[in-house]
Amino acid sequence: MINNIAYIVACVLFIVGIKKLNKPTTARQGNRLSILGMIIAVVAVFFERGVLDTWNTTDWTQNAYIWALGAIAIGSVIGLIWAKKVKMTGMPELVAIYNGFGGLASFLVALIQSMGEPDGGFDFAIALSICLTIFTGAVTFSGSMLAFGKLSEKISGRAIVFPGQKLLNLILLLGIIGASVIFIVPDINADLNIIAILAVTAISFIFGVLIVMPIGGGDMPVVISLLNSLSGIAVAMAGFIISNTVLIVTGALVGASGIILTLIMCKAMNRSIGNLLFSGFGATDSVSGKGPGTEPKAISVEDAYAVLEAASSVVVIPGYGMAVAQAQHVVKELAQKLEANGAEVSFVVHPVAGRMPGHMNVLLAEADIPYEQLKTMDEMNPQMPTQDVAIVIGANDVVNPAAETDTSSPIYGMPIIKAHECRTVFVLKRGKGRGFSGIENDLFFMPNTLMIYGDAKATISSLAGEFTSD
Ligand code: NDP
Repeated sequence: MINNIAYIVACVLFIVGIKKLNKPTTARQGNRLSILGMIIAVVAVFFERGVLDTWNTTDWTQNAYIWALGAIAIGSVIGLIWAKKVKMTGMPELVAIYNGFGGLASFLVALIQSMGEPDGGFDFAIALSICLTIFTGAVTFSGSMLAFGKLSEKISGRAIVFPGQKLLNLILLLGIIGASVIFIVPDINADLNIIAILAVTAISFIFGVLIVMPIGGGDMPVVISLLNSLSGIAVAMAGFIISNTVLIVTGALVGASGIILTLIMCKAMNRSIGNLLFSGFGATDSVSGKGPGTEPKAISVEDAYAVLEAASSVVVIPGYGMAVAQAQHVVKELAQKLEANGAEVSFVVHPVAGRMPGHMNVLLAEADIPYEQLKTMDEMNPQMPTQDVAIVIGANDVVNPAAETDTSSPIYGMPIIKAHECRTVFVLKRGKGRGFSGIENDLFFMPNTLMIYGDAKATISSLAGEFTSD
């Protein structure tokens, strides 16, 4: 009874926590509430009857507390060290690993349950939940491990497509369904049931790899979000198998929020989930938008300062390069100097700038840039023609006008920040590196665009320094 109340409290804390993640001002509090919910849920599990019964056992290998506390201690140490070491740009691969282990844990719960078949076989709903958990858990694990390898560049991040790939996927899927039916149908011999569940396991692991294989480049973070959703579904299914309400609720929350995030990312990139999973985007080098055959015009920091000094409105557009350069603190310094000089400064963040949703918002918040200065793309785009200067800091794809004008471009249709409509555009980047989509950017060749080459942090520091030395 007390346990059930604790689970309900935990679930309420998770729901309120997720809601608070919606706004930057309440996100930290939301995280804390969710952590509290998780602690309550974990402590409540230690008071479950089946767990309590193992307390007085003489055989330590049967004591659930030793195993659980040992696992928590090891997991916490590894998690803490890893979370402290990870850079912001490495977050997607860390999330990939978390998703993978979440899927593996649910998979193991289902596999162990499948081995202890009660007399008269499993109830239909439980047998179905076991198969679905094994499938989703194994696919999440193997798919996430491959995604981790691609994102951390331990293996090529390119999309791999081969003839007959979709047919092979279909055959594997039919194999999983067939083996699941053998497991679910009652009164089939117990040995055959074990073979069937092992077949579901093996094919699902292979299926996870094959599903992620044809996805590459800029689509990887979306896949991570999709796998996150799948890990939630696996957890919810595992909750059905062992009748644990808190697992069902948390799994459903993760599953639903993951799929919502996936859809938001797809919309911001103008892609459908089907196109993302099956198109093999990024399998080849694209050369769309080659520019007019001339070199982009470059400008020195000193000359750029002269333009900025006279500007009365400046819009800052951060992208992945700002994260790489860790330039957010110097960006704030420059913004303050521009404001002190009489300019109105705004920041506009594209929903998929950087390598994960909210990437830029987190960095700008880290530098204490006021939330009121952060504008969405829809708010700022109509005002772009009135802005004196746009400073594009390590952003590329999200300001590429080819998305609006070049129907052959792979990013055609993706909403962009219309930096090119500002009177003058400064693009800060190190050299000729392309964006995540691998295509050339028409913005760099426009008459009002001036490139300032160099690491974004060094360039911004020098620009801010010019104001000081004035
Ligand atoms: P891009 O990946 O398009 O471009 C980043 C640019 O930063 C490069 O052109 C690079 O050029 C420059 N750069 C790298 N390091 C530095 C540095 N130290 N200093 C200065 N510049 C640097 O970034 P965007 O943010 O514009 O676009 C994000 C991309 O990721 C989009 O294609 C989006 O679809 C994709 N994506 C994002 C997701 C998200 O959730 N945020 C999810 C899925 C995909 P150079 O090498 O010359 O310096």
